Amino acid sequence: MKPLEAYRGRKVAVLGLARSGAAAAKLFHGLGAEVTANDLKPRGQCPEADELEAMGVTVICGGHPDDFPAADADLLVKNPGIPYSAPPVARAAALGIEIVTEVEVAGQLARAPIIGITGSNGKTTTTTLTGLLLEAAGFKTVVAGNIGRPLCEAALEAAPDGWLVAELSSFQLMGTSAFHPRIACLLNVYPTHLDYHGTMDHYIEAKARLFANQTADDTAVYSADDPVCVRLSASLKARKWPFSLLRRLEEGVFVDPPYSDGTGPAADGTDRWITARRDGEEARVVPVAELGIPGRHNVANALAAVAVALAAGAPPEALRAPLAEFRGVEHRLEFVREIGGVRYYNDSKATNPAATAMSIASLSGPVVLIAGGKDRGSDFAELLPAFRDRVRVLVALGETRHKLREAAAKAGLTKVIVVEPENDAADTLRRAVREAASAAREGDAVLLSPACASWDMFPSFEVRGRIFKESAHTL
Ligand code: ADP
Repeated sequence: MKPLEAYRGRKVAVLGLARSGAAAAKLFHGLGAEVTANDLKPRGQCPEADELEAMGVTVICGGHPDDFPAADADLLVKNPGIPYSAPPVARAAALGIEIVTEVEVAGQLARAPIIGITGSNGKTTTTTLTGLLLEAAGFKTVVAGNIGRPLCEAALEAAPDGWLVAELSSFQLMGTSAFHPRIACLLNVYPTHLDYHGTMDHYIEAKARLFANQTADDTAVYSADDPVCVRLSASLKARKWPFSLLRRLEEGVFVDPPYSDGTGPAADGTDRWITARRDGEEARVVPVAELGIPGRHNVANALAAVAVALAAGAPPEALRAPLAEFRGVEHRLEFVREIGGVRYYNDSKATNPAATAMSIASLSGPVVLIAGGKDRGSDFAELLPAFRDRVRVLVALGETRHKLREAAAKAGLTKVIVVEPENDAADTLRRAVREAASAAREGDAVLLSPACASWDMFPSFEVRGRIFKESAHTL
């Protein structure tokens, strides 16, 4: 934790003016630093520029000046998406200027202990639920990070006797060196974002940074069912506090009886309970059937959130009600409507094949799947079992529509409707919804779960999900 006065009069350069950059610029300006912010995008595409300038930050848009950052800058804060090869970052490295990311800054300045939550899938759901569990247990809680609100903006707001709950992406973790969460949680590690990280090893390395600075006084929550998490757990310094869907644990949070005997009710008909076991003491937290969020993946997310909340000091009995009340987050397997016996679900946030496979497995009955989007090099092998057994019709759109059709053919799924792009991307999606609706039969679920990012057609997965919902509501 750095003293807040440490930045008074210091020269701070901020590279990348998207939300987290703007939040970092404001934070340092507020601490009395001399801040210069720079973005490659033209001024018209930097909506934050006017406000920053008005408060006294120097803003340079439309390119990187050769002399940015200034030779006498003390610090360069870079957006985690900007590569280390970008000229200003390379210049800072050559000049010996400290290079940090927004998350690292937040970690240094936060007064509250930090809970860091990462994983390939389930971050937002688990982070949101963790925040609710901690609040229900009476803790002062601030939730921020990848979830929408920059961590820097929340860093000074979280009270020293509360918790700062941070959702962290692998991009954000990559840029950290001293980041030190009191409780760290790794949900799962699937192959995703390989276009940015290059190899699976680099991706795993980024995720592992979450635990790198933890000590024996800290807690590490991780999935005992995920081989990568288990491998990483061998070198943890923190107290291990795993969770499992598949087996009872000596120490940890698990489903009891475990799912090893199937996904329905336990073999002997008894309820499955989320159960915690610590120092030989066992506590039953909530029956799985009472959880407000659907699907087995969400049971895993609930286990993780319970593990974190208990590690933070929440009493087990405070958690049952909020676990039952939480209905999930928008765009995550969100139920939209039922019409003519066909249920419509918006899962626009499923931006990789593993997430889509998980969502299909969570639904009952045949699925009419609307999928496709930005091509990030996946061959959709993870979807083959679902294409074989669960998907009755595939409606493919976006850059990956032909790849998806090929994957479906491999799995023997012949009912494929490829929607060619119209002038307006929204019209393309609307047509996909109409095609799905006319192909669907009573008892089917129409699921928008693209297995791809949205950027080939839409500015965000939220926009994609809302257009889907509107179309489903106007059928
Ligand atoms: P993230 O923030 O990591 O993208 P979300 O909580 O927003 O995760 O969920 C996104 C999608 O990922 C969900 O719609 C679901 O399809 C899938 N998902 C959520 N949790 C898990 C999990 N624990 N394991 C696998 N897939 C999951």
